[in-house]
Amino acid sequence: MMEKNQPATVTIEDMTENGEGIGKVDGYTLFIKDAVIGDVAEVKITRAKKTYGYARLMKVLTPSPDRVEPLCPVAGPCGGCQLQAMSYESQLRFKQKKVQDHLERIGGFRGIEVPPVLGMERPFAYRNKAQYPVGRNKDGEIVMGFYAGRTHTIIPVERCLLGQQVNEQVLAVVKDWMVRCKIEPYEEETGRGMVRHVLIRVAKATGQVMVCLVVNAKKLPDAAVLVEGLMSVPGVASVSYNVNRERSNVILGREVVTLWGEEYIVDAIGEVEYEISPLSFYQVNPEQTERLYGTALEFAGLTGDEVVWDLYCGIGTISLFLAKKAKMVYGVEIVPQAIENAKSNAERNGIRNVEFFVGKAEDVLPEMYEKENMHADVIVVDPPRKGCEGVLLETMVRMKPEKIVYVSCDSATLARDLRVLCDGGYEVRKVQPVDMFGMTVHVETIVLLQRQHT
Ligand code: SAH
Repeated sequence: MMEKNQPATVTIEDMTENGEGIGKVDGYTLFIKDAVIGDVAEVKITRAKKTYGYARLMKVLTPSPDRVEPLCPVAGPCGGCQLQAMSYESQLRFKQKKVQDHLERIGGFRGIEVPPVLGMERPFAYRNKAQYPVGRNKDGEIVMGFYAGRTHTIIPVERCLLGQQVNEQVLAVVKDWMVRCKIEPYEEETGRGMVRHVLIRVAKATGQVMVCLVVNAKKLPDAAVLVEGLMSVPGVASVSYNVNRERSNVILGREVVTLWGEEYIVDAIGEVEYEISPLSFYQVNPEQTERLYGTALEFAGLTGDEVVWDLYCGIGTISLFLAKKAKMVYGVEIVPQAIENAKSNAERNGIRNVEFFVGKAEDVLPEMYEKENMHADVIVVDPPRKGCEGVLLETMVRMKPEKIVYVSCDSATLARDLRVLCDGGYEVRKVQPVDMFGMTVHVETIVLLQRQHT
């Protein structure tokens, strides 16, 4: 066993799925943030448990061949990018292995070869969305940035290399408005103050920018000053605020008030146009989204005769992408504003063979199957990280669609759910990881399941 503050020299032999380096000293396992597999490093123990401990990277003695100099000056303290010190190729290998490991360890699958991750051409400046927390630093100045890993300390970063340049201009205007009009940032400890987050979204295809301030108030004071400032920022097409008076970590509240412009911005993926409201989910990486949806379309293998269900459909992105090749598409989504977007998106694109339902996938699908006897040839699911509820998976199995296309942003819950579907008579035919989140440990995976006829 080792002790706190003890120094050690370790070779990094492996990495956790969260991107920490793993090294061993006389059989004692150490987890080391910012260490890269292949590094030989000097570390200092920060926390020692009986059989394992945590250590801080003090000095890289021999850098791993995968190690690169991070481009961002705050890549270490900021919690956003866990893998910036790794070359992009090695990041993709890391993600491929992560998916493979999850399928084997959690899903109990043998013999599935996970192919290389579909990577980005340029793994920076890809994010179309940013949510900056607002606070004060020790000197009392207003700061906007990102939370340091696993904390709520704000690292001031107005220029995030994953995001869009216009973000900086927006933040400057918001800060100026706060200073001039004496608007207080929200304080988590006391629940006092006003401005919690600045949400910015940029539509890549149209250049439209959405700015939504998340505030601890019903009404925004001096809104005209803010709007006037934001109108000088190129592309700004929608200015709104979101009311969040809860003392919780959840970023957005339920109510959005439009201050200027439309309530939504418009983007396009491939040939389909989409309206996006502040409360609606929208994929953050437009370039890779096109690849992801293209893969979903390919996996679905539609001929024009199929009835397709798109569960967790958001603003109907996948539904509309598939509708052109299907007989009918039904979308289900829990956020009412997203379904409003989905309906106008269908109309906007002249797509008539779609219908959308507000509700939980695990409520709507069983009800539609049992009461309405609804049928499915293909079911697409794209759940949040926690994956699908058991009752939903059971209903899918009972509905016996020929194909299931599972789009996942968490390969651990994916592997868990695939096991249930395969035990229910499905077989994994294709797996394709797609890198939607370069520089981070996250990976998107898309899987084609085919029903077994016995
Ligand atoms: N397929 C869409 C959205 C995927 S993100 C796209 O690619 O853009 C997951 C979506 O599931 C979000 O829109 C979220 O609001 C929604 N959601 C979360 N829990 C849900 C549930 N239990 N039932 C239905 N939708 C849910």
